[in-house]
Amino acid sequence: MKKTRLLLATIALSMACFTYGQEHNEHAVSENKSGMTASFALHELKTGNLRFLGDSLKNTDYRNQIEKTKDSQKPHTLVMTCMDSRVPPEIIFDQGIGNIFVLRVAGNVEDENMLGSMEYAVEHTGSKLLVVMGHSHCGAVKGAVQNAGSGMLTQLLDQIKPAIPADHKDPDLIEKTVKNNVKLTIADILAKSHSIREMVDDHKIVILGAFYDIETGVVTFME
Ligand SMILES: [Zn+2]
Repeated sequence: MKKTRLLLATIALSMACFTYGQEHNEHAVSENKSGMTASFALHELKTGNLRFLGDSLKNTDYRNQIEKTKDSQKPHTLVMTCMDSRVPPEIIFDQGIGNIFVLRVAGNVEDENMLGSMEYAVEHTGSKLLVVMGHSHCGAVKGAVQNAGSGMLTQLLDQIKPAIPADHKDPDLIEKTVKNNVKLTIADILAKSHSIREMVDDHKIVILGAFYDIETGVVTFME
């Protein structure tokens, strides 16, 4: 099991470096005041996930990180994902303290408070990358597909339902709904936040979808 994960990590690392190089060569990259770019941020997440898969975490010196970040923060990325206890972004991307903002709610659906938080991240602290990440075996997505829910949970699951494919007998129904839901959340963010839309259009920031497999620990970016 561990050998397989290490092999996967090695292959994925070479792919991540390749992608990183490609991005630097082919895309105009907008830099913020500290020189941070969306390509750098994505590279940090990809290599962090590979360290996680390879059992080689490096951002675990929390005492030192607390000292370094006590006066200010400059997170390169905001990750919005599900509240699922098996999907902790700081750990699966090996980002420790102070490197990423994290927004979490069941089923990773946006609301006005989340949009306001995202605008704060990109406009006031210079985050360059927004990631909306769904995950395998998502209970919120299963609940939406099964038409479950009660009380306030019902309206939350209703927000996921437009992502359900027409073919309810599809064996990959849950995974397809998770990925559609990520795309819909991104579309909603761009439709509802004028400033985020403008910054994406002006190539000042990048917004990406991602899928986390809770069985393997692998994050796949939907680029
Ligand atoms: Zn979930």
